Amino acid sequence: MALYVHKYGGTSVGTAERIKHVAEKVKKARDQGDDIVVVVSAMSGETNRMTALAKEMQSSPSLREMDVLLSTGEQVTISLLCMALEGLGCPARSYTGGQVKILTDSSHSKARILNIDSDKINKELEMGKVVVVAGFQGVDEHGCITTLGRGGSDTTAVALAAALKADECQIYTDVDGVYTTDPRVEPNAKRLSRITFEEMLEMASLGSKILQIRSVEFAGKYNVPLRVLSTFEEGEGTLITYEEAGMESVLISGIAFNRDEAKLTIAGVPDEPGVATQILGPIAGANIEIDMIIQNIAGDDKTDFTFTVHRNDYEKASSILQNTCDELGAREVVGDDKIVKVSLVGVGMRSHAGIANTMFEALGKEGINIRMISTSEIKISVVVDEKYLELAVRTLHDVFELNEEKSD
Ligand code: ASP
Ligand code: MG
Repeated sequence: MALYVHKYGGTSVGTAERIKHVAEKVKKARDQGDDIVVVVSAMSGETNRMTALAKEMQSSPSLREMDVLLSTGEQVTISLLCMALEGLGCPARSYTGGQVKILTDSSHSKARILNIDSDKINKELEMGKVVVVAGFQGVDEHGCITTLGRGGSDTTAVALAAALKADECQIYTDVDGVYTTDPRVEPNAKRLSRITFEEMLEMASLGSKILQIRSVEFAGKYNVPLRVLSTFEEGEGTLITYEEAGMESVLISGIAFNRDEAKLTIAGVPDEPGVATQILGPIAGANIEIDMIIQNIAGDDKTDFTFTVHRNDYEKASSILQNTCDELGAREVVGDDKIVKVSLVGVGMRSHAGIANTMFEALGKEGINIRMISTSEIKISVVVDEKYLELAVRTLHDVFELNEEKSD
């Protein structure tokens, strides 16, 4: 007998019909003799609807009260799902995060889970019940309701799976797995049967639409096998797991991309200790996240310093940098907000030389100019002009033979 944690997202429980469909799936799984704990999100659109209501009360409502409000969305779905399950003759019990003592810190709206008391859930399971737990919420040491950030139900599910030592955490959603790239860009994209935690984190730009990235970090840390699969279609989905011997044959798992990038260069800054922090300090101080950083010696004890930011932060970063330029007596600030990042991801590249070269050659042949490059053990990213995004993704998908069917 195995223990599974199922998680159903907002679209999967978006209507009464769909909640009944989920109940049938859960009952079917339990009828196979396994223990099932279910985590649900709020019905789709509910969290947004409540957020809008709150904004009508005042422009920046307190985060504590926001958490009290938003946590009710999941309370609705846990009770409805239990009613549906009982209607099918399947004994079930619902619990809020606080009731099963999902203890978090006190950072309202983005709380972190500190501990889960699994006793109560285990007792219910022993009595033959399906346990349905509200996602996205917990309680802090003062008994205040907290929430885990948008998409946080995924993290609840993984945390419960870790605490209960579940055999697998299954995330049921409206897509049937993780793909080699976004099928809207490359229609030949294929569902992966497995992918490692590390790769999934690197594929965040694709994966974050499917899973809250924090849940993948959590699953990796506690080694919880995580499976993404469709609520609406039968199928194996994608298993996110540790690297295994057989996986070595897979060189490249996928191609991720970020559309909304921008780059900034401050040229002719003094090549001296402390300059990098003088440049990036004010940017970080303005809460602007930086992705790639490149520094080059330009000669004359001067250096050029380039970094990328999210496109929304471009104007702000640009004016901060202009100030820094004046202060440092640097030559100029130049920028481009029509760039994108394309990344090749795969644990197999660790042990294979020449991947980068194959990538650069393929892009070169298509006349795509590479503006920046950065690498990690299992990822190579290039910055290219926005107009080449689709071409770059498709070219690489083809060159690395991702179109072909992968075997399990
Ligand atoms: N209901 C929350 C949200 O919409 C949490 C979740 O669905 O995971 O973000
Ligand atoms: Mg989600």
